[in-house]
This record gives sequence, C-alpha cells and structure tokens, in this order.
Amino acid sequence: MDRLGVVVPDVPAPGIQFRDLTPVFADAAAFRVVIDAIAEAFAGRFDAVAGVEARGFLLAGAVAYATGTGLVAIRKEGKLPRRVYREAYDLEYGQAALEIHTSDLAPGARVLVLDDVLATGGTLAAACTLLERAGAVVVGCAVVLEITELAGRAPLAGRTVLALESV
Ligand code: AMP
Repeated sequence: MDRLGVVVPDVPAPGIQFRDLTPVFADAAAFRVVIDAIAEAFAGRFDAVAGVEARGFLLAGAVAYATGTGLVAIRKEGKLPRRVYREAYDLEYGQAALEIHTSDLAPGARVLVLDDVLATGGTLAAACTLLERAGAVVVGCAVVLEITELAGRAPLAGRTVLALESV
C-alpha cells in the first residue's frame, strides 16, 4: 500500500479504474504525512477548510483541526437543512450537484478546498464556484491523488491545485 491507494477495476461503472484511498486514511503514518503536507503547503494562507462529500470531509476535518481553522461541508444535493447555493456538474461516471449553506462563511474568508481524488475536475470546479458565490476567496485546492489522463486541471485553470501524488 502507498499513497496511490488501491485500484478497483470497473467501479462504480464499467471501464472506471476506481482509486480507493481508504487504506491511506487507515494508515496512521500515511494519513499524518498527507495532512501535514497539505497544511504546510498552504500554511498561513487560509481561514477555513472546505471538504467535498464524502472523502474530502476526512481530509478537511483533520487539516482544519491541525491548523486551528474552521470547517465547511460541501455536500451532495438534498442533505443540508437551510438555504443553499447549488451547482450541477459532470462526473467521470455521471452527473451530480453540490450544495453549500449560503451563510456558513464570513465574506472574504480565505478557503482551502479538499478532496481525495482529482479526476475530470468537475467536482472541485463546482466546489470553488459555490464557495465564491458564498463570498469566499478560494486560495487553492488540494487532493491526495490526481488522475492526469482525465485532465482535471483544465476546469480549474487559473487556480492553485496541489496533488500529493499523480498517476
Ligand atoms: P471529478 O469531478 O471527475 O474530478 O471527480 C472527482 C470526485 O469523484 C472525487 O470526489 C473522487 O472521490 C471521485 N472520483 C472520480 N473518479 C474517481 C476515481 N477514478 N477513483 C476514485 N474516486 C474518483
């Protein structure tokens, strides 16, 4: 096991090589390396961490706690109980929408956005759009693993994107 996770063929659809990073999170030393690397790369540049449901939550909670910053949940549609901004986007394997409470961020908050994997980039691009509609300043995005052949940096052009590993 390494920081590239475990490849699971044909999940969740035929032809998709699913990169399962849960073993990385389950490995105490590896998880610490990941969290510290993200926190250090953006040290002093963010006031809050946003995690994309669901595996982004695992990273965001740890980085927020380690850096003494707040945590914002970017959720899949229909989960948040109050007024939301909503952004639809295309996935490598389908369509989805993300939502954020309209009032969870202070205007001008500097936010670091986290997810486990960067594939086509649609998820993080939608997350950034939501945060900016909520009045935040997105200082960057970070993922554990980037799947380079899916060109996920294209929809994130102009943004700072950190990938700890790439395949
Ligand atoms: P995308 O919007 O295409 O960049 O997809 C990124 C989001 O979908 C992340 O939340 C990932 O957890 C998930 N995802 C997409 N493709 C994969 C994959 N091949 N392996 C693991 N997770 C993936």
